[in-house]
Amino acid sequence: MSGRVLVVDDVATNRLLLRAKLSSAYYDVVVAENGTQALEMACSEQPDMIMLDVMMPDMDGFEVCAILKAGQETAHIPVIMVTALDTPEERIRGLEAGADDFLSKPFNDLALFARVRNLMRMKMMFDELRLRDLTSRELGLTDFVSEQEIEVEAGGPILLAPPCLLQGVEWDAQLREQLGLATIVTTSEREAMNLARLELPDCFVVHQNLMEGGDGLRLVSALRARPETRQAAVILVVENGDVQTAAKGLDLGASDYIESPFDGSELVARIRSQLRRKRYSDRLRSNVRNGLMMAVIDPLTGIYNRRYASQHMNRVMERARETDGVFAVMMIDLDKFKSINDRFGHDAGDAVLREFSRRLQENIRGVDLVARFGGEEFFVAMPDVDQAAAAHAAERIRRAVEGSPVVLPGGAGEVSVTVSVGVAIASAADVDAEAIIKRADTALFDAKESGRNRVTFFARAA
Ligand code: GH3
Ligand code: MG
Ligand code: MG
Repeated sequence: MSGRVLVVDDVATNRLLLRAKLSSAYYDVVVAENGTQALEMACSEQPDMIMLDVMMPDMDGFEVCAILKAGQETAHIPVIMVTALDTPEERIRGLEAGADDFLSKPFNDLALFARVRNLMRMKMMFDELRLRDLTSRELGLTDFVSEQEIEVEAGGPILLAPPCLLQGVEWDAQLREQLGLATIVTTSEREAMNLARLELPDCFVVHQNLMEGGDGLRLVSALRARPETRQAAVILVVENGDVQTAAKGLDLGASDYIESPFDGSELVARIRSQLRRKRYSDRLRSNVRNGLMMAVIDPLTGIYNRRYASQHMNRVMERARETDGVFAVMMIDLDKFKSINDRFGHDAGDAVLREFSRRLQENIRGVDLVARFGGEEFFVAMPDVDQAAAAHAAERIRRAVEGSPVVLPGGAGEVSVTVSVGVAIASAADVDAEAIIKRADTALFDAKESGRNRVTFFARAA
């Protein structure tokens, strides 16, 4: 997995060094000499990551980072701050400006590449989510979610897995003071997995060594493997200078790491930035999911709409061709439905539609598809169903509606309802979905004409 890295440094030898290292790992490298140029290139080159020097003459790295993270075009690009000083104060300042990590000069290659790989992976995941979100928005299905507006201090608890209880108490105290989120502490690897399932934490802080031979790296990898914890933030705590473990952790899917002993404020700053990222990706994901649902689900009855049914018909016809089989489609329409609205009001009419769709779903098989085509007109596609079976099913549906009146909401009494059903049988030879639906529609018209509350088949023209 390659990608483009923008290297920003005012010193030419530093730029050359980083360019050489990154190019040797097949990253595409572009360089900028100062903050202004960096901001321009972040937009024009759309890099997948930015390595940003902290100390520069015109505009320092913190300032550049803050501007990048505030810009719509650039907010999503991960930033690694490169510094010679590397103090906790500096790291906290950087995290607050939106930096994703820090590397100190001179570089440790292992740490550098593990971090770059990790952030590239995250960037690609976000790119895909953002792309899908954009599509949903262009279709008018969802609204824009801004990363800046994400509320960090609302959500699931933070699970702390320290190497011993004493440290757990210290971590906990530091977090409680500065972060308004509940914490759970355990020193056991097994217990951490159980709590992960029961409490659904949003963030895990896991030390490399846990009690009774517990292994922090194994826990990180297990958290990533489970669907319920896959999207959570995981911060690995490694012993000071243990770059190997840190790099391994990142490759196993840790979102970030911190070296122990650490300043409580730095841990808080890292948790905040990981939580913001997680909440943002959650929002994008649910946005896309809700958008897709809205596109194919009828809000009143919760069943599929015509758009989905048309697509589904292609699958049903394909199956018929593969098996050289037959299938049935039905159009069902409520009889004299307008008079229900007229007599009891529109809300009562809605309740009838919902109750009908419930009875309809109760009387078909799992493989059959039910959709609301609009108004009081419903559609059913039944794969592998011949004329006799279709007659049986249609009659069952008709009886299920006629059989008992619908109870209206708000004590408005009850109303008897009937339906008319038009059925068409199609075979492998039928290739036009709309034509098949039209035949069922014609049959439905005949059912209405000949008195309603009945099932009518399409009579194949000679
Ligand atoms: P027929 O037996 O010939 O089908 O008579 P009908 O009254 O059922 O048919 P018509 O097409 O004349 O009227 C359908 C009515 O369905 C008109 C419309 O106001 C109502 N309707 C359509 N969609 C909805 C809805 O979502 N909720 C409610 N309450 N009524 C709806
Ligand atoms: Mg410099
Ligand atoms: Mg009707």
